[in-house]
Amino acid sequence: MAGIESLINVSEFSKENIKSFLSISEQSELNKLFELAYKIKKKYVGTKVYLRGLIEFSNVCQKNCFYCGIRKDNKEIKRYTLPKDEIIKLGLWCYEQGYGSVILQSGERTSKDFVLFVEDIIKTLKRKTNDKLGITLCLGEQSFDTYKRWFEAGAHRYLLRIETSSPSLYKKLHPYNHSFENRIKCLEMIKKVGYQVGTGVLIGVPYQTIEDLVNDVLFFKKMDVDMIGMGPYIKHENTPLGKKFQETPELRKKRFLLGLKMIAVVRIFLKDVNIAATTALQTLDPTGREKGLLAGANVIMPIVTPQEYRENYFLYNGKPCINDATTKSLVSRIESIGETIGFYEWGDAPHFFKRKNKKG
Ligand code: SAH
Ligand code: SF4
Repeated sequence: MAGIESLINVSEFSKENIKSFLSISEQSELNKLFELAYKIKKKYVGTKVYLRGLIEFSNVCQKNCFYCGIRKDNKEIKRYTLPKDEIIKLGLWCYEQGYGSVILQSGERTSKDFVLFVEDIIKTLKRKTNDKLGITLCLGEQSFDTYKRWFEAGAHRYLLRIETSSPSLYKKLHPYNHSFENRIKCLEMIKKVGYQVGTGVLIGVPYQTIEDLVNDVLFFKKMDVDMIGMGPYIKHENTPLGKKFQETPELRKKRFLLGLKMIAVVRIFLKDVNIAATTALQTLDPTGREKGLLAGANVIMPIVTPQEYRENYFLYNGKPCINDATTKSLVSRIESIGETIGFYEWGDAPHFFKRKNKKG
């Protein structure tokens, strides 16, 4: 390849540049890629890590994504929804630990009862923390009214992964009644309502090519999003995709590395957005999240779902092993790579404020 040095001062990368970054396999070149991404991260968002306590409050889902362990047709898991007071208790625990914000995540549901249930949780958490706790939602495709309702209740960020920016790959990964176009429409609605917008993709999922990933990076840029949460695909046996494709240790290693390269490339290309070092990275490598931070990520999402429910929020193999035993151990892991935690801070992406200023 052309050599990373020659690209360091380039402000607009071409498709070919991105592709060559994603194709790097030599360790010395990889190190240079991560160093460049880290330099850009330092300049645009700093080296503070922001924490989002991840509350996976329900695994009930009305959808059937081919890769996901909590899809509706998986009859082998026990479905749960945490009681409202327990969700609130978890949110308050995060606040007391100084987490700054929480993510409320669950399977997708659109019933009126569900919408009101979530609205009440958001309002209560905001009230009990004097508006200080930041709330991110990751609750799938909803109507404009629902997005607006939850925003007005106090949530200010929304994560909705596009999963892949390729309509034809999307079709291969989802049943016929799951709509790529609607997912895009939802991202636009989320932005219109006023949320900080997050999206992301599955990395290394079957049928995906490097060109698809290059287009994903361009898609993030075109959609002008504020946050990126993406991670390697990990097989779950009891899913159509898991049954069809084997997963070898080599494949897992390759996907992990591709996950790190995607973080680096997105940091180099988008600069001032927030990028999460996701749980899937840590599932594939015990120090995956730290490696993600060193490759350009600046957000981590410690799972705070109670242990007894975790085994049922089993999106993919190996996930329930993840455990941030104490905030103290989390802090020392972060400090071991020379970074600090932004306690009590929301840690919003600078990109969001620039986007808003441009508009107004
Ligand atoms: N139901 C909501 C949020 C919960 S799922 C939604 O789909 O938006 C959160 C994320 O888990 C999904 O966006 C998907 O990218 C990820 N996920 C599901 N199955 C996975 C797998 N097998 N490997 C890696 N990530 C997976
Ligand atoms: Fe449901 Fe989300 Fe899993 Fe799809 S990825 S089956 S919407 S929880």
